[in-house]
Amino acid sequence: MQKGHIGVTTENIFPVIKKFLYSDNEIFLRELVANAIDATSKLKTLSSFGEFKGELGDMKVEVKVDKEAGTLTVSDHGIGMTAEDIEKYINQIAFSGAEEFVNKYKDTATSIIGHFGLGFYSAFMVSSRVEIRSLSYKEGAEAVHWSCDGSPEYTMEPCDKTTRGTDIVLHIDDDNKEYLEQARIDTLLKKYCRFLPVPVVSGKEQEWKDGKYVDTDRDKVVNSTEPAWTRKPAELTDEDYRKFYRELYPGQEDPLFWIHLNVDYPFNLTGILYFPKIKSNLDIRKDRIQLYCNQVFVTDSVEGVVPEFMMLLQGVIDSPDIPLNVSRSYLQSDTAVKKISGYITKKVASRLEELFKNNREDFESKWDDIKIFIEYGMLTDEKFCDAALKFTLLRDTDGKYFTLEEYRTLVESAQTDKDGNVVYIYTTDPVGQYSFVEAANSKGYNVLVMDGQLDGHFISLLESKLEKTRFVRVDSDSASNLVPKDDKKTSDLTPDQASLLTSMFKSRLPEMEKAEFLVTFESLDPAADPVLITRNEYMRRMKDMASTQPGMSFYAELPDNYNLIVNTSQPVVAKVLEEAEKALGDRLAPLRATVSSDNERITALRAEIKDNKPTHEQEAEEKKLMESVEKARSEQEAIVKAYAEDKPVIKQAIDLALLANGLLRGRELSEFIKRSVSLL
Ligand code: ADP
Repeated sequence: MQKGHIGVTTENIFPVIKKFLYSDNEIFLRELVANAIDATSKLKTLSSFGEFKGELGDMKVEVKVDKEAGTLTVSDHGIGMTAEDIEKYINQIAFSGAEEFVNKYKDTATSIIGHFGLGFYSAFMVSSRVEIRSLSYKEGAEAVHWSCDGSPEYTMEPCDKTTRGTDIVLHIDDDNKEYLEQARIDTLLKKYCRFLPVPVVSGKEQEWKDGKYVDTDRDKVVNSTEPAWTRKPAELTDEDYRKFYRELYPGQEDPLFWIHLNVDYPFNLTGILYFPKIKSNLDIRKDRIQLYCNQVFVTDSVEGVVPEFMMLLQGVIDSPDIPLNVSRSYLQSDTAVKKISGYITKKVASRLEELFKNNREDFESKWDDIKIFIEYGMLTDEKFCDAALKFTLLRDTDGKYFTLEEYRTLVESAQTDKDGNVVYIYTTDPVGQYSFVEAANSKGYNVLVMDGQLDGHFISLLESKLEKTRFVRVDSDSASNLVPKDDKKTSDLTPDQASLLTSMFKSRLPEMEKAEFLVTFESLDPAADPVLITRNEYMRRMKDMASTQPGMSFYAELPDNYNLIVNTSQPVVAKVLEEAEKALGDRLAPLRATVSSDNERITALRAEIKDNKPTHEQEAEEKKLMESVEKARSEQEAIVKAYAEDKPVIKQAIDLALLANGLLRGRELSEFIKRSVSLL
């Protein structure tokens, strides 16, 4: 028997490893099974080259739990190891690798967890003793037995193993008894080994007999050895892709479509990405893209490997070229990873374009579901954005879809403003903003629906990408002002009429918290509503942004500003004005005369003073005149206010406008209803 000292200088390295990796020690099984698969594949390769001439036989890998003996055994029928192999690969390389590893990652314990590169010795994380029994494929090889209890001492001696291959026997330690439960092992195999290329057997298939489950004599294979992504796209039907999706994410609705990735230069990468129906953000976090390395599951946190917006996708990426034994921050700056990420982006964009070109109708039917993904991609990835401009669709309120180019052609002639900008009119809520949409349509304008989660940001993006283009929300102005032309028709009221109307409407403004209304007049279509409430596009966008972005609370604190536009061409308004003139004219006349004569005198006085320093008398006179104007004004206002108080039609017109904007709520709404009934 050979006794030896493993080539490690640090005394007793394994307790250190154990402690470091305690929380994630389950990966030992992945490591051991992966080694077994490697050994199996190597022999298959040797055989195909004619370097191994014997029978391959049954090449399955077996994981066996023996609760009584307290052991877990991973067996393969691969190349096996001779005593020299063990000396070289296990005693020297593997263990010195362990030391190097621990030294390197001493300070960043967490970064090791979940990464590759632990290899064989990860077995010591869960074992009090590990044994290797192996018979090499080499002719005349002698079976060898190696044993080590986690101290740097090991023993190695010949043994009586007669079948080719390797058994790794773990004597599970007291802290890790869970790994002697078949159910626990099954779960782990399902997680890490379900798509390995060699059949992995663990326990027996069970069947229902005499009121309980009993083992049959059929092996239970835990993996499918040829998962869809490893096959050629030409061999696969749509149903194959769907089936594989259901295998990955049981109980989910079928995906919208998928992209089969397949590249071997300048790096190796295969995989299938699925576009799911995105229902809520929660789904996304749960069922993510899975990363594999030669069919061994590595992780499903793929941040850094795929572009961020792809996190909305599902599926599998398999690449031996992604460096897995490194920390995440390193991964993100790795050039190979960047290339991979760039490749995936390009591939996804070209596949989307292909779908659009080949079957526009189908693409349109999926658009609403994939829109969020495409917008997210365009907002976060410049290259994707440029590619996606070709197949990005806009939907109007009639449910018609247009490419950006088509849409421009559609609206250019009617919706170009006086500065040569094409104005894209949109609604964020076709139902809530119905009356505005209708008004815009009746002017011959098209209205886009922009009600998605990211549409606000997407609009800004389009404005920066499309030349001479401006977006305005349909309720940001009266329909006739949405696309400002030179022939803007302002109201033709006299100053007295304007001030009378202003006072009337001002006195009946709604009392809303943090809202301010500015009363203005416009001569709109007589058939339009008497009052229109609009919200300035720029201010609204600022406030919308402030609500989602930190550091903009200044805007968030500002009141909401609304324009209350009184349509002076509307018969009801005309009548209100006429009646008010009739009822109040006599009482207002002397006050109006005072205001106008005082104002005239003020103007004259100021002309007298000009650039000189005013005298005491001049100063006193100006002050007196101004007070007089102020007094006459407030008297007028009081008269108008008292009059407007019992003119329900004014309040009614304002409330109708509030209603059209969804701003009439609570007590105001209930009063409106009562008033409406009484007006009937
Ligand atoms: P890695 O697999 O990354 O090379 P390991 O520590 O897991 O590192 O294994 C070290 C070496 O031991 C392997 O490269 C291989 O040569 C050998 N080895 C491990 N397990 C087996 C096995 N089941 N059959 C044959 N050789 C093995």
